[in-house]
Amino acid sequence: MAATVHAWIIRQLTLGEFSSRRAVLSKAVAMAAKIAVFAYVLNILSHFLLVAFDLLPYDLAPALVIATVLTPPVSFVVAVIAYSVVGLAIYDLGLSHQRFEMLSRTDMLSGLMNRRAFLEEFERVRGTASLALFDIDRFKAINDSLGHKTGDDVIVKIAQVLAAIAPPVVQVSRIGGEEFAVLLPGMSAADSLDVAEAMRSGVEAAVFVGPAGPFAVTVSAGVAEGVAELGFSEIFSNADRALYLAKAAGRNRIVLADGLLTAGRGKDPGASCPSDVLDVRRSA
Ligand code: GH3
Ligand code: MG
Ligand code: MG
Repeated sequence: MAATVHAWIIRQLTLGEFSSRRAVLSKAVAMAAKIAVFAYVLNILSHFLLVAFDLLPYDLAPALVIATVLTPPVSFVVAVIAYSVVGLAIYDLGLSHQRFEMLSRTDMLSGLMNRRAFLEEFERVRGTASLALFDIDRFKAINDSLGHKTGDDVIVKIAQVLAAIAPPVVQVSRIGGEEFAVLLPGMSAADSLDVAEAMRSGVEAAVFVGPAGPFAVTVSAGVAEGVAELGFSEIFSNADRALYLAKAAGRNRIVLADGLLTAGRGKDPGASCPSDVLDVRRSA
């Protein structure tokens, strides 16, 4: 019984997490009201106890009047202030924690989720999933000829293009310098290839502006389908192998791992398709 009462009191008085400052204040008022009632009852009982032992040094009637007039409002105001101060501190700490958590999951240049967050998202996926690994074509040459700042701008713009094209369930992240990973949960390889191809052609169609005027940028990608429960490394290495083939086949194209399908068009005149890659060349 005592334990139940103790647990009940703790439950009533404990501050939890808060969704807003308004929630803190309304919780403080609710808590303070309970405390005011509690303090009042305790005060009255104490008076009767003192009377019972003939220890009350003044008349009971005026003492009860004063207790009734003073105890509830005073204890209410003190409790509201105390709970608000503590509650707002807890709320601010929660906000800082959320902000820190958000920053630790975000790639600061592109604003996309970073590798760590992407791996966490992958962990949550169950069943079939596809992974598309994008890599900017000849990015080093862009840096070398147009400068690192323009290179950064290219990364940001490509991030925006990929994110804008991604369907709602699809997660886009920047997992390395000029590499992007796209997680397509529950999507077949064929559907994923369509999404990846839309992203590739979206980048190809985008206009990039450098110090010397507009220029074009392309990306290549490898797409692999897998079962999420089998782990990230298997699907990643398949997509990476496909990306390697996309580069070798001329860049600016998508290669589907194992399916040996390629979408897009290569622009490297000297490059040739590996013999095990069927070049679909969707866009002429
Ligand atoms: P490929 O078509 O085979 O992918 O060639 P590439 O030049 O894109 O590939 P490579 O790996 O040779 O060069 C990648 C370059 O990306 C080298 C590195 O300096 C640059 N890079 C990596 N991270 C960043 C970044 O955050 N900003 C900028 N501006 N450049 C970066
Ligand atoms: Mg790379
Ligand atoms: Mg590259």
